[in-house]
Formats: sequence, C-alpha cells, structure tokens
Amino acid sequence: MLYAVVSLAVTGLAFGALLAFAAQRFAVPVDPRVEAIKKELPNANCGGCGFASCGALAEAIAGGRAPVDGCGVGGSPVAQKIGEIMGIGVEDKEPQVARVKCLGGKAEAEELFTYEGIRDCRAASIPQIQGGFKACTYGCLGLGSCVRVCVFGAMSMGPNSLPVVDDTKCTACGKCVAECPRSIIELVGRSRKVHVCCQNKDKGAVARKLCKVACIACKRCEKACEYDAIKVENNLASIDYSKCTNCGACAAACPPKCIIDERPSEECEVAAS
Ligand code: SF4
Ligand code: SF4
Repeated sequence: MLYAVVSLAVTGLAFGALLAFAAQRFAVPVDPRVEAIKKELPNANCGGCGFASCGALAEAIAGGRAPVDGCGVGGSPVAQKIGEIMGIGVEDKEPQVARVKCLGGKAEAEELFTYEGIRDCRAASIPQIQGGFKACTYGCLGLGSCVRVCVFGAMSMGPNSLPVVDDTKCTACGKCVAECPRSIIELVGRSRKVHVCCQNKDKGAVARKLCKVACIACKRCEKACEYDAIKVENNLASIDYSKCTNCGACAAACPPKCIIDERPSEECEVAAS
C-alpha cells in the first residue's frame, strides 16, 4: 500500500515537472496589447472590419496588419483609445453612416430580362447572365444581399426594390459596403446631407435611356456650386465632401434629380432665400 502511494506521488511529481518544463519551453509569448485592444472594441463580432471576430481584429492591430481605426462600429472614440495603446496618434473622425448611391429602382431603371435565379446580388451579376438583369450595369440590383448581411437590422428593402438605411440603427460597420457587387453603398459622415446617388459612367444620352434618374453629365451641378465642391468626370458627378457646405444648390439644379438633398425642407427654404 505504502509502495503504491509513494510510486503514485513520484509519478505525479515527474509528470508535473514535465508539464512545467513543456509550458516554459513551448510558451507562446502573448502580446498584452491584444487583450487591452480587445477590451476597447465593441465586441459585437459583426465582421464588418473584415476579420472573423473582434479578437481577431485586436490581434491584427497589435501585429500591424490592421489600422488602429479598423473598427467602424467603434468609430473615432474607440480608435483614439486603441491609438493610445499602440502609441499612434489618431485624427478625430466624424461618425459615419451608410448611404445607397443609386436611385434607379424598379420604377426608374430598365430591365433587360426577368431574373428568376437566386435572390443574391453577386449571383445575379455574373458575366454568364450579361452581368445582371438591369440595363444599367452600374446600378442597384435590388436583391437585398446588403440587407441580409446587416447584423444590426439597419437595412430593409424599400417598395421600389432599393435598400433603405435606418440611420438610427446603422453602426457604420461597413458590411453592406463590402457585400454590394455594384459598390453603390458608401460610408459617409453623418453631417453630410447632399449626395450624388448614381454610379453610371455612360455618356449622358445612353445613361438617360437606361434609367430615368441617371446622371447625364450635363455639368449643371458644377456650375451651380459656389464652392467648387462638385465635379463631373467620366460622365459622372461626384462631391468633394471636404468642400461641400450642404447648401443643396447642385441638387436643385440637377435635371434628372440624381442628387439628393436630405436636409429638412425648412432648412432648404432658409438656404434658398
Ligand atoms: S447598414 Fe448595417 S451593414 Fe451597413 S454599415 Fe450600417 S450597420 Fe453595417
Ligand atoms: S446636374 Fe445632375 S445630371 Fe447633370 S451632371 Fe450634375 S449630377 Fe449629373
């Protein structure tokens, strides 16, 4: 009996020593910044940053494989804190929100054929089916892939087969932006109220035939802007938000109304008077 107890104790000690040695010998050094960064992240694990989880993003930031402001959901406050951990200065950035930059829904945009395949925008835009059923090869396909990836419930399909963003729920995670095969969703500063909602780069006459609300590259917006904030290049207008004052003059001048002015109507009247 005594022999069994002693041999058990010796075996236990031997295994303990072996484990202690192995733990020391094969220990993987842990970067303490990873835990610190992870604590600052929202831990929503939404995947909007392109990593599988907040922990994976934390490791990537600490390893220099992702920027300190890689988390759209956390925004500027979180980026500042992570910047402190990493010893990197971070510029303050305005909170953002997703904007769908196409107004060519069922009522406005021509369709080439009736699509009856998988309800997925990527599947519907493969070259084998002419890159999509919409005549405008730049516009929203309206099959709701963006809506399905939004884990915050901030997107829904509107009655005109265009996605609608609920600003109160959007966290600017960027998942919808990454999902859209037509790249028509962008993250913009929340204070930005005037947007060109078209991506069509065809010549004006062609664009007009494909969609009633396509940019026709007439340059009236350019002429109307006192701040040099809107330019027409490659047959498409685009706004330089750093110069735009939200005055809405370009939107008022645009014949097809492809520039939207989100300001409440009272504010528009004040600006116009
Ligand atoms: S709409 Fe949804 S998926 Fe798109 S940025 Fe906002 S929260 Fe993320
Ligand atoms: S006024 Fe409208 S249609 Fe004309 S170039 Fe500007 S955005 Fe395009």
